[in-house]
Amino acid sequence: MRISFSLLETYKNCPLKFKYQQLDKIKTPKNIEAVFGNAIHSSLKKLFERTPLFPSLDEVIDHFQNNFAEKVESLNLEPDTIAAYTKEGITLLKNFYKKNPPWNFNVVELESRFSVILEDPENKETHILAGIIDRIDKHEENGAYEIIDYKTSKRMPSQDDTDKNLQLSIYNLGLLKKWPHLDPEKIKLSLYFLKHGEKAETKRTKEDLENTKTEILKTIREIEDLIKKEKEFIPTPSGLCDWCGYQKMCPMWRHLFQSQISNLPATRDLAQRDKSQKDQIPALINKYLELDDQTSQNKRRLAEIKAQIDNFMSQEDITRVFGENAYFTRISQEKEVFDSKKAQEALKKMGKLKEFLKKRQFSTLRLTKKKIKP
Ligand code: SF4
Repeated sequence: MRISFSLLETYKNCPLKFKYQQLDKIKTPKNIEAVFGNAIHSSLKKLFERTPLFPSLDEVIDHFQNNFAEKVESLNLEPDTIAAYTKEGITLLKNFYKKNPPWNFNVVELESRFSVILEDPENKETHILAGIIDRIDKHEENGAYEIIDYKTSKRMPSQDDTDKNLQLSIYNLGLLKKWPHLDPEKIKLSLYFLKHGEKAETKRTKEDLENTKTEILKTIREIEDLIKKEKEFIPTPSGLCDWCGYQKMCPMWRHLFQSQISNLPATRDLAQRDKSQKDQIPALINKYLELDDQTSQNKRRLAEIKAQIDNFMSQEDITRVFGENAYFTRISQEKEVFDSKKAQEALKKMGKLKEFLKKRQFSTLRLTKKKIKP
């Protein structure tokens, strides 16, 4: 299998998105964040390209504006949105240029491609791990190398997250494949957060890199197992769904978009189904909510009544009370109950818990109460 960090991340975040993208090869239009990120990356590449002189800041900004304007055109966005992103890009490049004049750095490679062959010791299969490193610098003062990955996102990770960052570990493997003589201790790994002008830095030991390989191979085996056994790639909704190009065909969201997408092949069958049945769903959900609310109220009231009766029985020291159509009896008995939590803890201590765990696929309906925007 040929895999990259971005594919591994896609699979971890949502296996179904991975399937749509990598196995079904369904193309989706890019979103504005991706187009913006690409234009910024391309401009930062230009900034460090010496042909033979470094470009001026104006040339870099021109490059960004042209690149962004050309790519964003097909997205059919409001002019205000495009203007806001353009302004942000220019500010970001100005700040970067001020803090990082290109002549102050010894850049060894830009957009450096790598591919690492991974052999799985469990089944002897080989896989290719590929990627592109934004920038590799050499620090002459101590002979160290630095891998730099630019980020246009806002959120900066904690040091702990940076130390565990899979992308940087993979890039470290890529650099060592390119130049095996390098000492991993002398490779600095940096995520450069352009919106803040800040770097999150870390390093990896040989042992860390071996663990990374093991982790990647485990994920590849998991994916191959799903493919071989034709198991489900489960949709995993999260905040990332808002940026997912497959939302309109995804079973988690398709219903919300059905009227707009009746012509997509993946949803045509659904759209052609009895329309009245489809239209009933929002009304059925409303009815469910109403009944659910009544049930909760009834449950609360039943518990209150039971407590009142129980209280009366205790005060009167009686074990049975009568109404016109029924009676209550207090039943006191000792029963043996299996303490599954304790059993789990004991098995865990003995290192035998895994022997008793079985994967079971089940399907249930879970209700989420949330105002849905039209
Ligand atoms: S919309 Fe969300 S759940 Fe559906 S494929 Fe995309 S990321 Fe996965």
